[in-house]
Amino acid sequence: MSNSMLDTLTDPVNDPVVDPVILAASPKCTEQEACAIAAMFDIHPEVACDLGSERDRTFLLHDSSGAAVAVMKVSNAMEDPATLDMEATAALHACAVDPSLPIALPWAVPGGRGHRARWTDGDNVHWVRMYDAISGHGKRPAIELTDEALVDWGTVTARLGRALRSFIHPAAIRTMPWDVQHTLTCRPMVPSISDPAARALVTRTLDRFESNVFPRWPMLRAQVVHGDFTTDNAIVDDRGRVVGIVDFGDMSHTALLTDVASLLDSLADGRPTDELGRVARLVLDGYQRITPLEPLELDLVGELWAARIAIGIAIASWRTELGLQKSAFGSRYQDSAVELLDGLLTIGWEALAAQLSSSHGSGEPADLIKRRSEAFGPGIEDLSYNEPLHVSHGDGAWIVDVDGRRYLDAYNNVPCIGHAHPRVTEAIARSSRRITTNLRYLHGSAVELAERLTAACPSTLDTVFLVNSGTEANDLAWRLATTFTGNTGGLCTRHAYHGVSSAIAAFSPETLRPEDMPSFVERWHPTDTYRQEHLDESSFAAAVERLARAGVAPAMAILDGVLQSDGVYDLSPALVQQWVAMTHAAGGLWVADEVQGGHGRTGDAMWSFSRFGIEPDVVTLGKPMGNGHPVAAVITRREIAECLAARTVFFSTFGGNQVSVAAAHAVLDVLEDERVLPRVVATGGALRAAMREVAADFDCVGDVRGIGLANAIEIVQSRSTREPDRETALRLKEGLRQHGVLVGTTGPAGNVLKVRPPLAFNESHIPTFATALSRSLADLHTRIDPQ
Ligand code: PMP
Repeated sequence: MSNSMLDTLTDPVNDPVVDPVILAASPKCTEQEACAIAAMFDIHPEVACDLGSERDRTFLLHDSSGAAVAVMKVSNAMEDPATLDMEATAALHACAVDPSLPIALPWAVPGGRGHRARWTDGDNVHWVRMYDAISGHGKRPAIELTDEALVDWGTVTARLGRALRSFIHPAAIRTMPWDVQHTLTCRPMVPSISDPAARALVTRTLDRFESNVFPRWPMLRAQVVHGDFTTDNAIVDDRGRVVGIVDFGDMSHTALLTDVASLLDSLADGRPTDELGRVARLVLDGYQRITPLEPLELDLVGELWAARIAIGIAIASWRTELGLQKSAFGSRYQDSAVELLDGLLTIGWEALAAQLSSSHGSGEPADLIKRRSEAFGPGIEDLSYNEPLHVSHGDGAWIVDVDGRRYLDAYNNVPCIGHAHPRVTEAIARSSRRITTNLRYLHGSAVELAERLTAACPSTLDTVFLVNSGTEANDLAWRLATTFTGNTGGLCTRHAYHGVSSAIAAFSPETLRPEDMPSFVERWHPTDTYRQEHLDESSFAAAVERLARAGVAPAMAILDGVLQSDGVYDLSPALVQQWVAMTHAAGGLWVADEVQGGHGRTGDAMWSFSRFGIEPDVVTLGKPMGNGHPVAAVITRREIAECLAARTVFFSTFGGNQVSVAAAHAVLDVLEDERVLPRVVATGGALRAAMREVAADFDCVGDVRGIGLANAIEIVQSRSTREPDRETALRLKEGLRQHGVLVGTTGPAGNVLKVRPPLAFNESHIPTFATALSRSLADLHTRIDPQ
């Protein structure tokens, strides 16, 4: 091939030179000659069948009985011997790493001269290699592969990639246009595509590659890969499953994903457009059983797939035009490949990425809001904010919306150690990759979690139940309490929230209309530290008294130790101790609901009840326990659990499953490793100081209070009246959102701003919060009093 042709094949960015092998013709070698050449490997076949190859000659050799004895490859004259040596060592390496991979291995040349023997066809020197013949079907049409086979192909490809992970060879650094890494070297070949429609499809694909894939290519995982694991290079059994991997001739150091691209190109051949997503997902499922793809890889896999098809069309057209290839060999690329590429482009890049990563739920906000209300009906709570937050992802104390705007999250306590903490996400992924079962099977992680939880509690609390939500935990607490005490009444604070089940909704007056308040639950006023009301036990005593008058004794009194729904107050330990004693005196159990206050929220201890110097009879955990993954627990005394056990058996399908347990362990680990509790104390103190400083000039801020990172700003009509001002609190919440900070509102009058960030919120976030608060307050003032 002329040098000028080589010169035209340059990558516009990297300017590499194409491997000359792509330009050279196949060796001239007859089937009779092939039988004779085989003697160099000490075999004497009777028949040689040409298997067809793009640039080499490959023969299946049979002995006189017709049995296949070996596969012989006569290489293209331009083939670099170093590349051939790489192929041989790579096959041997992969087989050594994963011995059950069915790789066709190269034969050593008799006499110990490596794996290639020299042969000349008169003009050119060719290297000859001999491989094990694997029995099975070669070049099976992809359309015949069953779904099970598609998954298997994905798995084998991933195993092959894994087996080559530790392989390196200088010859792997090469510029092969087949390697998707060098897609853009195909540009000069595009004019050879005779069909204008096909040419347009290839051009669109290359343009997309250049603008969207090429810039991100350096971020993709790279290694030496097989690069051409396709139906042309595999032997399959009757069920279409891979029993032989052949031809390492396209190996190079490139993105791992190029293996997937060539696989999809091959396996989707002949499938209709509406099947492409499903076929690719099955292949990817198989692949990801071994090697999960990274988010960027999932984003780009469809585009690499398209690029690989485009490369195929361009190279085949170009080689055909130059007479290097019979047009019959290239015709696949003018027909089914064009159809396949057309199919992918019809789906569209974004939709393709969504289909391949199985992501759901795209849509414009207005449409989604409508669909949300149609799908869920009126029963669920409204979206927050006048203009709902359309979230995309989170990171530490930040939430990012679909438009990329970052919000400082000062509201969500569930992602306690921070949004998307890698320890938790990885624990969940790793664990779910292994197994998810239930507590009927023995697994140590659930046992260890229970041990860790009891170790973090007073020694009397020695028994754990694992459940799935705060509601379930409280529901079980109620069941334990009624069973143990024989009583049927309950006590909770006057604006409490403890959950949604029938039993626990009765303990959630925050969500009940006055006329729906059940008669078996009485409510008491916790201390309002701002107004200095309910400082003693009289409200509690009156609630017990009301129960008694109704002929009911309390089975339990339940308290959220940070009073999130009642308005966030710091209670006096002496008073709480009195409440506990009065509950016990009335025959009830004390339930510490740590769904809000637990897992380090207060900073001074793991559980908020510790600050009161009490020993609850039952502790319930939820929300932060799995950092967003649903997992919850009840911790109690053995005698209380025994009482339930005497009557029934407790089993929760998901309670204690390995994945939830892994999430819960990860949270506990991070709380320790990052020394979260002391950080919460320091951050909480600094945050309150900053809030007080900002609020000092604003008469509508009546009180700033809190414990650790459970904080509140109480909004009033004026400091002199201390009258709650719900409207202004809501406007501030909206204003803060406009300034990029998320808070909520709470309290019986809805006038308390709830500042309850993930515990990943640290002192570095305070200036952002303080600035937004100051601006929101100033905006309010401007609007109220425009002078
Ligand atoms: N207890 C408290 C104190 C809560 O705040 C909540 C939830 N807000 C629950 C229980 C109920 O938890 P879940 O929503 O997980 O059922």
